[in-house]
Amino acid sequence: KFRAIVFMKLLMVSSEAFPFSKTGGLGDIAGSLPIAFDSIKINSSLAIPLYKENYKFVNKKNLFAKFKIKHNKDDIEVEIIKIKHPENSNITVYFVKQDNFFKRNGLYSENGKDYKDNASRFILFSKAIVQLLIHLYKKEKFKFDIIHLNDWQTALISLYVKEVYNNEEALKNLKVVFTIHNLAYQGNFSVDIYNLLNISWKFFVYNRLEFYGDVSFIKAGIILSDIITTVSPSYSKEIQSEGYGFRLNNLLSEKSEKLFGILNGVNDKSWNPKTDKYIKYHYEINSNIKSVEECIKKKKLIRNSLYREFNLKNNSFPLITMISRFDPQKGLDLIYSSFFELSTYDGNFIFLFSKDNYFKTFEEDFIKRANRTKNIKVVFEFDEALAHRLTAGSDMYLMPSKFEPCGLNQIYSMKYGSLPIVHSVGGLKDTVINYSGNKSANKATGFVFNNYSVKDFVDIMDLAFNLYNNKNIWNKLIYNAMNKDYSLLKTALEYKKLYKRLLK
Ligand code: ADP
Repeated sequence: KFRAIVFMKLLMVSSEAFPFSKTGGLGDIAGSLPIAFDSIKINSSLAIPLYKENYKFVNKKNLFAKFKIKHNKDDIEVEIIKIKHPENSNITVYFVKQDNFFKRNGLYSENGKDYKDNASRFILFSKAIVQLLIHLYKKEKFKFDIIHLNDWQTALISLYVKEVYNNEEALKNLKVVFTIHNLAYQGNFSVDIYNLLNISWKFFVYNRLEFYGDVSFIKAGIILSDIITTVSPSYSKEIQSEGYGFRLNNLLSEKSEKLFGILNGVNDKSWNPKTDKYIKYHYEINSNIKSVEECIKKKKLIRNSLYREFNLKNNSFPLITMISRFDPQKGLDLIYSSFFELSTYDGNFIFLFSKDNYFKTFEEDFIKRANRTKNIKVVFEFDEALAHRLTAGSDMYLMPSKFEPCGLNQIYSMKYGSLPIVHSVGGLKDTVINYSGNKSANKATGFVFNNYSVKDFVDIMDLAFNLYNNKNIWNKLIYNAMNKDYSLLKTALEYKKLYKRLLK
């Protein structure tokens, strides 16, 4: 008996997705998973808002549907723009277009301030996605099997699908997966916004949207999705405890049977030292340890040009980098408190931070301290190209995060032969193998410190700097780090297992 291969049909919904829009890891993963899925027979589409920076991807001919959406008392006109993904024509991208809501200079904020109407914006986005599903069924008899939601911005869709529009034929049997990329962002808003939801007040109860008197979008996703995932196994455990659970730990442990941790992987097209379009010298590791030396030669050329550009002296010094949102989550206080020690190392530091609203004075202090040193440079910018060059040109990479759902930069750095120095938490713990003496040299890929303290941080920096002079061991660590498999395909296969389970 022959059976036609039936691809499962998946809609990935996110508030950001690379290469269209990105502010962090969410964008990387939501953008690259659909492409990875295509190679393992998941028919996937992507739905995102149409931001100002996305206009270059669309034109008038791409208009697919138009709806009037009830939004409190208003009727708001929303358009769906449909294109083929520029990197893979098997993938359909649906943009939700409503210029007053999304055509702005930022995604979530501007000049350091969150947009005041973010609740309204993502409620409307969520409603538009549900209308799109209904429209696809009415017009084309097309139904997705699975809708995959990401973070609070899309979490409400699970409520609309499961309990508000559940009588719609289009939504029957639709399975909902909800991924938490960072539990610190919950979408909690004052109850004043409730009318924008256009739903009954019966949902304003503790086992639905109510959260300490506010409305919590993320709760909808946690309670009503069929499966919850987080982006690393350790983080899926940590968020069930008080320290990392941000007041949702009890709810999450209640749901632990449907909660899974799947480690993020790397999009090989954009992050690969062999083909990276942002670097001038390319390199590649193979199974011969000698190939490390070739890699290091190229890395030094990239490093030298960074030293010239940033006016850093001592070409023989190792380069230590960090690329991140300027957010306390990332361990900035450890770095700030150890500036003096860092300034004494035989090494140069370049930090690339994207500004994060609330920390203006801390930012200024941070720059002041850096300016007093000769070997620490700080750039406040979101700069994709520089991020790639810093990853390729560096010898060590700092990621002392207080908590870290997965973290991508420590993985990128290992792939590019820059050894990460990380706090033992979340995805950092799951991806970096600690160097603990020469016996570990056959496996170790970086340095992991246990206690979140300035002392532990400085101690491990000392250890890394000492080891840097032991070329034999250091090169082995680079060899281990570069040879590990961080492919997104592994991640995609894990998700596929879960999807299959849901469809059984
Ligand atoms: P998070 O999602 O918490 O911001 P991740 O490590 O998961 O952290 O992902 C961060 C992503 O954003 C990486 O691709 C990183 O290179 C990118 N990124 C962060 N800050 C900057 C910056 N200042 N300039 C360019 N890219 C950045």
